Amino acid sequence: MASPKHIGYAFLLEDSSGENVFTPEDLSPEQLEFMRVTREFVSKDFEPVRHDLEKLDRDLLRATLQKAGEAGLFMIQIPEEYGGMGLDLLSQMVVIESIAPTGGFSVAYGVQTGIGSEPILFFGTDDQKQRYLPRLATGEMIGAYGLTEPGSGSDALAARSTAVLSSDQTHYVLNGSKIFISNGGIADLFIIFAKVDGQHFTAFLVERDTPGFQVGGEEAKLGIKSSSTTALTFQDMKVPRENLLGEIGKGHKIALNILNVGRLKLGMGVVGGMKDALGRSVRYALQRKQFGKALVEFPLIQQKLAQIAACTYASESAAYRTAGSINQIIEDRSESESASLDKTLATLEEFSGECAINKVFDSECLAVAADEAVQIHGGYGFCEEYRVEATYRDARIARIYEGTNEINRLFIAGNLLKRTQTGRLALLQAIQQAQKAVLERLPDPPADSSPLGDILTAIPNAKRIFHLLVGLVSQKFLPNMEKIADEQEIMAAFADLIIQIYVLESITLRAVKRIRQGDPRSGLHQTVVRYQAIECFEKIDQLANRLIDSVFRDDARLTHRAIVRKWSHWPHLNRVELGRALARECIAAEGYPFVVQ
Ligand SMILES: Cc1cc2nc3c(=O)[nH]c(=O)nc-3n(C[C@H](O)[C@H](O)[C@H](O)COP(=O)(O)OP(=O)(O)OC[C@H]3O[C@@H](n4cnc5c(N)ncnc54)[C@H](O)[C@@H]3O)c2cc1C
Repeated sequence: MASPKHIGYAFLLEDSSGENVFTPEDLSPEQLEFMRVTREFVSKDFEPVRHDLEKLDRDLLRATLQKAGEAGLFMIQIPEEYGGMGLDLLSQMVVIESIAPTGGFSVAYGVQTGIGSEPILFFGTDDQKQRYLPRLATGEMIGAYGLTEPGSGSDALAARSTAVLSSDQTHYVLNGSKIFISNGGIADLFIIFAKVDGQHFTAFLVERDTPGFQVGGEEAKLGIKSSSTTALTFQDMKVPRENLLGEIGKGHKIALNILNVGRLKLGMGVVGGMKDALGRSVRYALQRKQFGKALVEFPLIQQKLAQIAACTYASESAAYRTAGSINQIIEDRSESESASLDKTLATLEEFSGECAINKVFDSECLAVAADEAVQIHGGYGFCEEYRVEATYRDARIARIYEGTNEINRLFIAGNLLKRTQTGRLALLQAIQQAQKAVLERLPDPPADSSPLGDILTAIPNAKRIFHLLVGLVSQKFLPNMEKIADEQEIMAAFADLIIQIYVLESITLRAVKRIRQGDPRSGLHQTVVRYQAIECFEKIDQLANRLIDSVFRDDARLTHRAIVRKWSHWPHLNRVELGRALARECIAAEGYPFVVQ
C-alpha cells in the first residue's frame, strides 16, 4: 500500500506535518546554482536584445535560444546518455522560475524543454532519443508541439488530422492542420498528433523540411510577443514509419501526461513573473512622489504590495510543495532508465490533481499581481516604456493554455470524484467521519497554542467542511452520482474549495517548518501566512455557502449553513496591520522578501 505522501489528493484526507513538505528553503546549493546561471543568462544574453525580441525577430529568437542552449539550460532533464545532465525536476523548476521574467522568450524556452522534448524523452524509442534528444539538449534543434486544431482546442482528442499507412508500409501520409503552435516559426522538429485511419489518436515526429509540411504566418497576439505562434498545415505529408511516437491509438497518453507536468511548470513560471512584478512595483513606488510623499507611504499602495507578495508566497509554497512531492518519489533512481521514466510518468499522473491546482491558482494570482503592478505605476504602467505593461499582457495567456482554467477546474473535481468512486482515494471514510461529527456533536479539536496554532487548528475544519459538502451534494444526486459532472458550477466550486485548502495548508506548513528550523525570518513567514489565510478563509466561507444555496432549499439550506458556520470559526486576523507589516518588508527588501539564494 502506497504511503499517503505518495498519493495524489492525500492532503484532503490527512493532517500533514511541516516536516514532510518541500519548501523553496529546502533547495540544495546545486539547485540554486541553476538559479544563478539562469539569472546570469537573462541579464547578459536576454536583456540586451529584449526590445528587439518583442518585435518577434525569428533569427534573433533562434540565436538567443542557442545561447540558452550553450549555457546548458536545455540539458537539465535530458539523461546523460542522450547528451543532457539527467538532473531532477526541482533543478528544472528553478530554471523555469528564473527565466519567467523574459515573457515570451520563456514560452519558447518552456516549449523546448517541455512539450517539445518530453514526449520523446518519455515515449520515444532508443533510436528516436538518439536521433533527437542530443540536438534538443544543445539547442541545435528547436522543438514544438502540435495538438490544437482549428476545430479542437479544449476537446483536443476530437482532432481531425489523419494519418494513413502507405501501401508499401514504409511511411504514414498525414493530412490536416494545427493552430496556435508555439515555436512554430522557428522549430525544426514537431510533435504532431493525428488519427491513424481517422480513428486512432497517435503522435508523430515531423521534421520541418518534410515535403507537404507548411508553417503559416505569425499570429498577431495580445502578449508574449517575442514567442512565435503559427498554424501548421500538412498535405499528403510523408512521415517515416519509424517516426511514429509511442503506440498507435495511445496519443492521448502522451498528450495528457505531458500536460500534467506542463501545468506544474506553468505555475512555477508564474512565481518568477510575480516576483519580477513585485520588485518593479516596489522600486517604482519608492521613487515616485505624489502629495509630497513616496507612493510606498500610502497605505492603499502598501496593501497592493502586500497582496502581490502574499500571492507570490502562496503560489511559490504550493508549487514547490507539489514539485517536491513528485521529485521525492521519482528521485529513487536505483532502477533502470526506462523503469525510472515510467515511474516519473506514473507519479505525474498520481499528482495530476495537484498539478492542475497549481496551474489554476498561480495563473489567477499572476492576473491579480500584474493588474495591481500596473495600478501602482498609474499612467506609466499603461505605457510600453515600463515593463509591467508587458507583464500585464503576457500574463493573460496563462489562464488559457495548458488547458483553460475552466477545463482544469472540471478536471480537479472530476478526477477526485473518479478516484473516490473507484476506491483509489479514501474520501468516503472522511465524508462519513464529517457526518458523524455533525450527528454526534463531536467537540472541536483542542486549541493549539503554538505559533500559527490557530491556523493549524482551522485547517482540519476547512477539510471537514469540504468532506461534509461533498457528502451532502453527492447524496442529493443519488442514484445517478455521475450526473454531478454535468453541474459545472458545482464542480468548479468544489475545485475552488480544494484549491484553497491546498494553498492554506501549503503556506502554513512552510512557515511552521521555518519556525521549527529556527529561521530568523520566521516572524515574517507568520505574517504572510496570516495575511493570505484571510483570503483563504473568506473564499472557503463564500464557496461553501454558495454551494449550499444552489443545491438546498428551506430548512435543509439553513441547517447546512449553520453547520458550516460552526466549523468556520476562523481566527481573528487584522488585514490592515498584517498588510502594512508585510509591505514594510517588501519595501525594505525592494521586492519579494523571501528570496532564497
Ligand atoms: C499563444 C498561444 C500558444 C499556444 N501554444 C500551443 C502549442 O504550442 N501547442 C498546442 O497544441 N496548442 C497551443 N495553444 C492552444 C491552447 O492550448 C488552446 O488555445 C487552449 O487549449 C484552448 O483551446 P481553444 O483556444 O480552442 O478554446 P476552446 O476550447 O474553444 O474554449 C473556449 C472557451 O470555452 C471554454 N470551454 C471549452 N470547453 C468547455 C467545457 N467542456 N466546459 C466549460 N467550458 C468550456 C474554455 O474554457 C474557454 O473559456 C496555444 C494557444 C495560444 C493562444
